[in-house]
Amino acid sequence: MTNPTAAQPFDIERVRRDFPILQRTVHGKPLVYLDTAASAQRPLAVIEATDRFYREHNANVHRGVHTLSQEATDLYEGARRGLARFINADSEREIIFTRGTTEAINLVAQSYLRPRLEPGDEILITHMEHHSNIVPWQMLREQTGAVLKVAPINDRGELELDALEALLSDRVRLLGVVHISNALGTINPVAEICRMAKRHGIPVLVDGAQAMPHSRVDVQALGCDFFCLSAHKMYGPTGIGALWARESTLESMPPWQGGGEMISRVTFEQSTWNELPAKFEAGTPNIAGGVGLGAAVDYLDGLGLEVIAAYERSLLKYATERLREIDGLRIIGTAGNKAPVVSFTLGDIHPHDLGTIVDHYGVALRTGHHCTMPVMQFFGVPATARASFGLYNTLEEVDVLADALEKARAMF
Ligand code: PLP
Repeated sequence: MTNPTAAQPFDIERVRRDFPILQRTVHGKPLVYLDTAASAQRPLAVIEATDRFYREHNANVHRGVHTLSQEATDLYEGARRGLARFINADSEREIIFTRGTTEAINLVAQSYLRPRLEPGDEILITHMEHHSNIVPWQMLREQTGAVLKVAPINDRGELELDALEALLSDRVRLLGVVHISNALGTINPVAEICRMAKRHGIPVLVDGAQAMPHSRVDVQALGCDFFCLSAHKMYGPTGIGALWARESTLESMPPWQGGGEMISRVTFEQSTWNELPAKFEAGTPNIAGGVGLGAAVDYLDGLGLEVIAAYERSLLKYATERLREIDGLRIIGTAGNKAPVVSFTLGDIHPHDLGTIVDHYGVALRTGHHCTMPVMQFFGVPATARASFGLYNTLEEVDVLADALEKARAMF
């Protein structure tokens, strides 16, 4: 699993040259892109892989005997193999391509859990989930009469593990937990949580959208049952992601969407299903997206996630120190174990105003509820500003952010 080239020291200038968009200016200032948690920028390797696909290999996959179709299939399925290896899946049959994390969670809700639920059964999630790990379960609750329970967090934005364990009753049919919170940056002890749930025989779905770009994910070491990810959070294209689950689990699930690709034989009386992973991939997939995802995996692997994580820890430390110096700035989410995400408010300035002002200095911040309204409710704020860092950000960019925030503060 470990890439031998990954031991190289992190050369930030070389890395930045991989991302053409970082050359551009915004309002006449160099772009300082601090919105990677919403969507990361793409390296040339990803841009060129998708470009090459359309220029040289474009065709539909799986069904064609002609050369282009076979090339497209090889590239698409190669990406699946690459992702399987990257997250240490047992085989590529365990990788279901989806539109992203959201679709992966909906797939589990409708295909795995819905047939298993009786009225009164419980689905357990946590207070720091993204809406995509809340709303599908609420919809399922309406469909089945199940009950949605929520494990609490503390003032630092950490899960209260004892309280979570106390909620693991014999009525719980699934625990859904975010690996890294997009709003708070909290890194949850997912392996420990999975062990806890296993002791109670409860399957665990991990929302890994934010984990993929920041940490080495090994689904077997985590001990989860479902892992969901989005390519665009990990320097790949939008509109593609994946669900990982063990083959035996996927075999036990009925198909979710019906159509082409997912069938073995169709008559008007009856249809039978294709093998994994095709059973869950109805219709023409996002082929170029898959190819781009494969390139993103290779790119991350080439740099080495351990090296990236170490570099990002230095960014987080510096950003936290610098922002704490700003009068009236309140950091929301101060967990002991954090990814490079800093959510904050600044005095009475509305985060949207803050975002608009710093944009004039070239700084791209996200402002709003970050699709985590319950987190905002917990901290008693309508919204936050969020600086989220990626492997291409620099300490100097942290200074640009801090200076822009000081200027915003002076305006009010
Ligand atoms: N979960 C988390 C923690 C996220 O940050 C996001 C996106 O912001 C999602 C889920 C949803 O991902 P997608 O919109 O790619 O399906």
